Amino acid sequence: MKGINRLEGKYAVTMDLYPLQGKDFTKIQPFFDNLKEGRFTTTKCSKCEKVSYPPRVICPECLSEELVYIDLPKEGEVITCVEEEIGVPIGFEVPLVLAIIKLGDVMTFISRIINCGRGELKEGAKVRFVSFPIEPFPAEFGKETLEIERYYFAFEPVKD
Ligand SMILES: [Zn+2]
Repeated sequence: MKGINRLEGKYAVTMDLYPLQGKDFTKIQPFFDNLKEGRFTTTKCSKCEKVSYPPRVICPECLSEELVYIDLPKEGEVITCVEEEIGVPIGFEVPLVLAIIKLGDVMTFISRIINCGRGELKEGAKVRFVSFPIEPFPAEFGKETLEIERYYFAFEPVKD
């Protein structure tokens, strides 16, 4: 499950749809570290208890920086979905399935759905979280180029 961010052996930053990762490039690295461990997490404010998604570095409610990572439910229900047949970015399978998912009483958000055939996903379907490694990106540190490993996530249909 890789995005294509290399063309003829060269890293093409404008073709890379995944976020940069590594502590030098993002302040929400714990979110990605948790993905690597198979955990779906976000931030919760220690002061006002506001849960935000995507993860934040400052609480949007009270501006506190005292945030902790909490685990989110790994199963949700599809409210509605769409299958993109054309205009799908390079490196993504067709159809590209996107769904608005209700994760218990915690939140509603949009995610990509993988391992899902054309016309398979319906409203009310159960989906579950999956995390996976994606193509690392080459980060330059002075004269040295290091491959930064990356992880991302999607949801997939729960099959009985
Ligand atoms: Zn707060």
